[in-house]
Amino acid sequence: MTRRTLFALAGAASLSRGLAKAAEAKKQIKITGIETDLLRLPPSEFTGDAIHDFGSAEGGVVLRVLTDAGITGWGYSNFGMIEGGPRVVQTILEYEIKPVLIGQDPAFPKKIRTDLWRALEYQGAQGVTQFAMSVVDIAIWDILGKAAGLPVYKMLGAVRDRMPVYAMCGWYRKNDRDHSQYKRTIDETLEIGYRAFKVKVGRYSLEDDAERIEFGRKTAGKDIRIMVDANQAFNRVESLRRGRVYQELGCFWYEEPMPPWDHEGYAELAGALDMRVATGENEYNKHAFMDLLLKKGADVVQPDNRRAGGATEWIEIGAIADGFGVELASHGGGPANMNILCAIPNAIYMESGGKQKIINGEVLAPEAPGMSSEPNPDFIAKYKIG
Ligand SMILES: [Mg+2]
Repeated sequence: MTRRTLFALAGAASLSRGLAKAAEAKKQIKITGIETDLLRLPPSEFTGDAIHDFGSAEGGVVLRVLTDAGITGWGYSNFGMIEGGPRVVQTILEYEIKPVLIGQDPAFPKKIRTDLWRALEYQGAQGVTQFAMSVVDIAIWDILGKAAGLPVYKMLGAVRDRMPVYAMCGWYRKNDRDHSQYKRTIDETLEIGYRAFKVKVGRYSLEDDAERIEFGRKTAGKDIRIMVDANQAFNRVESLRRGRVYQELGCFWYEEPMPPWDHEGYAELAGALDMRVATGENEYNKHAFMDLLLKKGADVVQPDNRRAGGATEWIEIGAIADGFGVELASHGGGPANMNILCAIPNAIYMESGGKQKIINGEVLAPEAPGMSSEPNPDFIAKYKIG
């Protein structure tokens, strides 16, 4: 054998090994099925905002997306005050979404989103339908992170590995006229390390609102940021009348004073106030945010992980907001929110009621591969009803 042939043979062997490796690396993961659990959670302590009473039984849906690689993608969609909604989401997942997912490669989340929009448009790609699509996207990114051995925030293109957080302190509670529960919540929140908290307003009079804000300020001191949230309680006139007072009291942002669809009303308000106007927790997908932003209706947009459309859609909402020079904060907290927010440059806050470890007002991103949002198996076993 000549040296030349020997090298050619060695080269061929190494080339064939290389091709085998490339094929292995390129091996597509296939979605093989889904599993869902319907949860019913028992009543908890009453908390209220301007228009909602929380504390009665609520529900949720756990989603597992199964693959031929042995990796399972997890998602959980909770309904803080509704028992029936999760049944609808479970039905949509099992009957409409499952056939679209089977055989798909999870490395194509945008293709899956397009296919789901097409498959679900007949019943409307908003509302509970969007809850179902969002939880699918979260589970798909969980698979991708686990397959790559990376937390999702690094898969999405990280800008940071920690996020400022704020707590929800000022709920309306039963038997709290003297604000003793409110005060205890603020004290605990600051003790954990939070540097910002939110107060509900709008359930009663403006005088009551002002008293709640001033009590929070007196308790927390001048260096802590206070946001107010009116949960859609007002019309346009009342939004501005009360907003001027909240602004005078030094609140950091003024959240959702009007119904979410009144984008013109939000534009009038944002134009009239110097303080940040925040909204978006009840918007579905980037097209709604685009309309809000084109009308200059928000200084801070607040996507909700269950309604906005999952990581794929959120990243685009973040980019659209960034293009308008608008900040973003999550509605809700937890690891999935963290993973997404750490990949959005204009994100300023994660909402969190949690008692997690906080350093200088910030929470560290989860470092485990995937979304880090698998519900505890004991929690599922305890509350599973279907
Ligand atoms: Mg809110």
